[in-house]
Amino acid sequence: MTLATEQHTQSTSATFKNLQCKECGAEYEAKATHVCEVCFGPLEVSYDYDALRRQVTRESIAAGPNSIWRYRPFLPVMTDNPIDVGTGMTPLVKANRLARRLGIKNLYIKNDAVNMPTLSFKDRVVSVALTRAKELGFSTVSCASTGNLANSTAAIAAHAGLDCCVFIPADLEAGKVLGTLIYSPTVMAVQGNYDQVNRLCCEVANTHGWGFVNINLRPYYSEGSKTLGFEVAEQLGWKLPDHIVAPLASGSLFTKIYKGFQEFIKVGLVEDKTVRFSGAQADGCSPIAQAFREGRDFVKPVKPNTIAKSIAIGNPADGIYAIEVAKKTGGNIESVSDPEIIEGIKLLAETEGIFTETAGGTTIAVLKKLVEAGKIDPDETTVVYITGNGLKTQEAMQGYIGEPFTIEPKLDSFERALERSHTLDRLEWQQVLV
Ligand SMILES: *Cc1c(COP(=O)(O)O)cnc(C)c1O
Repeated sequence: MTLATEQHTQSTSATFKNLQCKECGAEYEAKATHVCEVCFGPLEVSYDYDALRRQVTRESIAAGPNSIWRYRPFLPVMTDNPIDVGTGMTPLVKANRLARRLGIKNLYIKNDAVNMPTLSFKDRVVSVALTRAKELGFSTVSCASTGNLANSTAAIAAHAGLDCCVFIPADLEAGKVLGTLIYSPTVMAVQGNYDQVNRLCCEVANTHGWGFVNINLRPYYSEGSKTLGFEVAEQLGWKLPDHIVAPLASGSLFTKIYKGFQEFIKVGLVEDKTVRFSGAQADGCSPIAQAFREGRDFVKPVKPNTIAKSIAIGNPADGIYAIEVAKKTGGNIESVSDPEIIEGIKLLAETEGIFTETAGGTTIAVLKKLVEAGKIDPDETTVVYITGNGLKTQEAMQGYIGEPFTIEPKLDSFERALERSHTLDRLEWQQVLV
């Protein structure tokens, strides 16, 4: 373990300093630890911002790799050879057709449905966590997952040659289970919900000395989400948007996009401005939205029951911080029903050609709800974060999409089917009109 650590401390380019308690400010060495021993608050990575201001320019970033590692000085690793599997720099798409449908003007989709290597935003956090895990000398990595995290951890561990054991709730979508097993990690399907999986993993982390990306490596892992903020700022031409909408599970992603924007302001890469932060949850697991609605600054845990499994965390670790960010930026936190989530998935697919999973359907449905309630200004530059891929949650769409016309390999069979399809179109129009 010491060997790897010693090699990396030679690096002169480390810009992160240590871990600091988000509540009481107590400082800790940058090891595999995540809870303050004084007040039990969460630990967060702190940086030398003076060094960052001296070292980093728009040009130096643009000259970096076409991945999250172009922002390496803002990430909590020392090595100049991070695990780079092409994660990040996903498209920021101007969503004109969706915008028109909703009645707004300047809408963008940050499309992490096509992130590498496993088609979700989790590839960002795992690339960072496993790079740091190697620096800290871990040979086995693990996670408590709602699905996408297991995919990412297993895939990137395979690439990095790390042993891997992941924990998932037993009732996950087939695509998420297969998308983990294919990399041959050890998979524990736990008979319980995510919060029970997480509790079990906390015990395992204490007894086995493994690197759990979202438990003892959580301070490093969560920093990876800042790149969703950095990329949007760079892709908008080094400008911040007016408003962002993102899904909330633990609330980490949401608060880290905020931290990313703040850091770019702090080191002078973008102009200071307030970006409004709005968050999305599913009605069937909406502890953060409920607290926001009721004006509480604490989150009451709930038992999840929704098709949006990837964001179904009943006891969200960063819930209160997410509420704080939404409040101080003038944003909102809303939730939507499962049928609205399905509609959201279809709306994004039909208008923009992007097939997202249930988490993305949740985000689009909340976007729609916020626009209809006048909580998004039609002229605001709004960025919506699509965090996962629809091919992984196909069962959610069963019974909600059309069927192909089965035809004989003959022209007249095709012509009859085409006529029928036109009739169906007309019928749909009639339904719309009545
Ligand atoms: C994990 C996940 C999120 C949210 O994660 P946080 O715990 O809030 O950081 C959002 N979307 C998808 C698809 C996810 O897998």
